[in-house]
Amino acid sequence: MLYRDQGVVLRTIKLGETDRIVTIFTQGHGKIRAVAKGIRKPGSRFGARLEPTTHVALQCYKGRELDIVTQTETIDSNRALREHYGCLTHSVSMLEATDQVAQEREPNPALYRMLVGALRTLGESPTPLVSAAFFWKLLSLEGFHPLLDVCARCGADGPFTAFDLHEGGVLCESCGRFAGRRVEPETLAMVRRILGGELRSALAEPTSAITVETERLALTSLEHHLERRLRSAALL
Ligand SMILES: [Zn+2]
Repeated sequence: MLYRDQGVVLRTIKLGETDRIVTIFTQGHGKIRAVAKGIRKPGSRFGARLEPTTHVALQCYKGRELDIVTQTETIDSNRALREHYGCLTHSVSMLEATDQVAQEREPNPALYRMLVGALRTLGESPTPLVSAAFFWKLLSLEGFHPLLDVCARCGADGPFTAFDLHEGGVLCESCGRFAGRRVEPETLAMVRRILGGELRSALAEPTSAITVETERLALTSLEHHLERRLRSAALL
């Protein structure tokens, strides 16, 4: 059966002499894995269109496990993301997170919009806050909404000095002495802005130790969350 869709290439691996298996997060079919035949031959009609971060329109034959790509057309090459090393690492970590969260052949329109939007924004304004915001919103999409205004352990209303995903959010000075990860109050303020609907103004902030810490905190929280989810899924 032939189908058409559009999607973002998450990763590719070599197959045989000239082919690749391409993992694509599509709008209408969720995550798919498809064989791009002859893609590694010089002058292949797929060429650079199926590189990670590329947004493509595609036509595939549906297979039992692997589909077969028959046609592709570039919607947005997102080439700037691959040519700028800083952008590349941020994009790759967003693609990896998407790969972990997206289910095969299960559409996830909210995640799809987030990813396409984040890649476009990163191309326009390359700041770590783009991927930071993506990870915080992904956590929220996964059902984890961190407590940011009261201590997650004792309910005190600040000042907060640490963040602990297992406790569910920020920790006050005395609780933070024994648990969580120390974070600057400015970083917590940044997370509040990202999740509180002030993302656009936050993105205008220049890159600083705070924007970098905001991304790192988001990424470690997401990793903890996904690990715990994978472990609990393994127990089922
Ligand atoms: Zn406390």
